[in-house]
Amino acid sequence: MKYTVLSLFPEIIDIYFASSIMAKAVSRGIVEYRPVNIRDFALDKHHTCDDAPYGGGAGMLMLPEVLGKALESVISAASGRVIYLSPGGRPFTQDLAKELVREEELILLCGRYEGIDQRIIDSYVDDEISIGDYVLSSGEVAALALIDATYRLVDRVITSESLEEESFSGGLLEYPQYTRPEIYGTLQVPEVLLSGHHENIRRWRLRKRVEKTLSLRPDLIRRGKESGLFDGETRKLIQELGGDRDERDTGHRSLPDEG
Ligand code: SAM
Repeated sequence: MKYTVLSLFPEIIDIYFASSIMAKAVSRGIVEYRPVNIRDFALDKHHTCDDAPYGGGAGMLMLPEVLGKALESVISAASGRVIYLSPGGRPFTQDLAKELVREEELILLCGRYEGIDQRIIDSYVDDEISIGDYVLSSGEVAALALIDATYRLVDRVITSESLEEESFSGGLLEYPQYTRPEIYGTLQVPEVLLSGHHENIRRWRLRKRVEKTLSLRPDLIRRGKESGLFDGETRKLIQELGGDRDERDTGHRSLPDEG
């Protein structure tokens, strides 16, 4: 997977590619990073990259000619999807991360100020993606979230086992996890996890996944049911835990006691 990132502050992105698991993925040649400093494409000696919006209003917009030149420098026939990180984009989800990871290259355009001239979106952008319903001051933070969620899905970056029962896989959140010590303060690791009984552990974990999802994200349960995502065992647990009652999209609910 190749990430080409267009930014006014590429140093924010550089440090991520030089750290931890990502640095290893880059050194093993699994991930490639191409930073593009938008300011290098400015047209004047002051390296101006922004101007006031037509029609008035607060703030500045990134200049289309500068962005156009920066994009032209990286776009070729073989290039991947051009994505503008934008609060007005379609929501970024685990499913979208899985879709994006099938691309050979992602070209990520990071906005600043009040955003970018619409004509750049019309001319070059394949996808506008938002990382959530809030406004960040910069596209770099959003690009990093997208990069982080996608590169770990690339083959050989982490073990595929780690991805199997993660939150959102199979339409459920992850089960609670514990490590040493067995007793922390007054809190004990659930007995079943110490039993070595793999089938009981598997059943306990599935139950906890359903419980947690019903409590924190009932919208995921509803969507999973609608799309026929759940197997018989999961459907039975949902019913047993009261998940067949009418759910609201958000909000917490209490669960029946575990037997
Ligand atoms: N004026 C814009 C609006 O109201 O939609 C907000 C611009 S924001 C201050 C500056 C840049 O941050 C945007 O161009 C975009 O690249 C990035 N950004 C802000 N919030 C984002 C979000 N939720 N998802 C993705 N990118 C975001």
